[in-house]
Amino acid sequence: MNDLIVLYLYAAAALFFALGLKLMSEVKTARYGNWSAIVGMVISILATLTAFEIHRVDLLVLAVIVGTIVGTPIALKVPMTAVPQRTAMSHAFGSLAVALVGAAEYYHDAPNVDPFTMAVLSGEMILGFLTFTGSSVAFLKLQALIPGRPFVYPGRVVVSLVNLGLAIAFAVYLVLNPSHSFALPALAALSLLFGFLLVMAIGGADMPTVIAILNSFAGMSAAGLGFVLDNKILIVAGSLDGSSGLVLAIIMSRAMNRSFINILFGAVGGAKEVDAKEVEAHRTVQGYSVDDAATVLSNARKVVFAPGYGMATSQSQHVLKELADVLQARGIDVKYAIHPVAGRMPGHMNVLLAEANVPYDQLYEMERINPLFPETDVAVVVGANDVTNPAARTKPGSPLYGMPILDVDKAKTVIFIKRSLGAGFSGVENELFYNENTMMVFGDAKQVLTELIAALKTK
Ligand code: NDP
Repeated sequence: MNDLIVLYLYAAAALFFALGLKLMSEVKTARYGNWSAIVGMVISILATLTAFEIHRVDLLVLAVIVGTIVGTPIALKVPMTAVPQRTAMSHAFGSLAVALVGAAEYYHDAPNVDPFTMAVLSGEMILGFLTFTGSSVAFLKLQALIPGRPFVYPGRVVVSLVNLGLAIAFAVYLVLNPSHSFALPALAALSLLFGFLLVMAIGGADMPTVIAILNSFAGMSAAGLGFVLDNKILIVAGSLDGSSGLVLAIIMSRAMNRSFINILFGAVGGAKEVDAKEVEAHRTVQGYSVDDAATVLSNARKVVFAPGYGMATSQSQHVLKELADVLQARGIDVKYAIHPVAGRMPGHMNVLLAEANVPYDQLYEMERINPLFPETDVAVVVGANDVTNPAARTKPGSPLYGMPILDVDKAKTVIFIKRSLGAGFSGVENELFYNENTMMVFGDAKQVLTELIAALKTK
């Protein structure tokens, strides 16, 4: 009877998880999606607690207390701009837990582990351990604790593949000889090394896809552990996580026009950072005042905002919405152009603009907005850079080459709001700053937008 109740509860939790994913696929319903997933997780935990006889309640309570003490401030204090690295940490610890439980399960049962269980255990441990080091490196790179550029050396791909091949060879050895437990630490060490080398060699513009791929690995290893433990909700939740991470990785790599193999082994993003002063010395740039920008905007009929990472760091989404309101009150048409990898995490701009109550019908995904740029009077780029860089179209060999971009350069006038001529995340110089129809308005986005609103009111 108890088993049946647990099964029903797991089925309900699985439905809440699936509903959560569905709701999260639209900006309008994303918040409910989050709640749905939370409800699913609470049901799963309660059902799991009732499914087993718990021998050490004290340890369980201690784990809950420690988790709450560590997790609550992280959830409350981590700024939106640091969510990708926070997510990387979640993947790291989640997958480490999965790999360690797998190892414990092996040592508990060895040598009586059947070949199927050993194969699944080995697979999930390889994925779990490599995701742990890979995600940790992603965290260190995104938090700028180590350089973000790819760490490359001759024969890198061969070394990585031999490394992975050896880990798999030890896995096969364990399947054939489950009593030879020495192979497990070797498998673990090789997997840890592979994850480290893999992500060390990835840099710049490919980080979003890497995060999604690691998300997928973490989910798949959890699903594998679910089979070993015969825990149905772990199988379902892990599979949902694994497959949604994979779908996200596919969407992201399409957005950057890259193949998986090229992302994992292409070492893209190593471009030398632009020395803004050097560039300034031999190029001319049209620097304009806020008042000039206000005049151009007040004469426009169609305006498109292209927000990027700088809007996130300056937290200027609310002021941007206010500027949009001022323009709309003057009868000017306003749209927001959303690039899939603008900012530092998938959906970053959607989240921020939703927080500022920007109406959803004014948000235009890249495919919808690009054909509209030629008829746009002013494109206002707010702290975006790479996602507008025409090098993606024109410079074969550039780390950005092939990545679809927002065609802001096709608008009649482009106003760039940023603090300097510095490059974006990929380190690639942006030719657009020097175009004749580009107006550079230097300054912090929030401050410039605030001044723009004030200036517009006098026009
Ligand atoms: P970029 O990183 O290309 O450019 C952001 C620009 O914002 C910088 O050039 C910077 O210029 C400017 N900026 C920073 N702070 C401020 C501020 N306070 N006020 C005004 N401007 C500011 O961002 P994009 O959004 O254009 O592109 C995203 C990049 O990040 C892509 O390369 C993408 O691949 C990568 N990425 C995306 C992830 C995702 O999932 N979305 C995850 C990880 C990486 P300045 O210093 O001169 O002000």
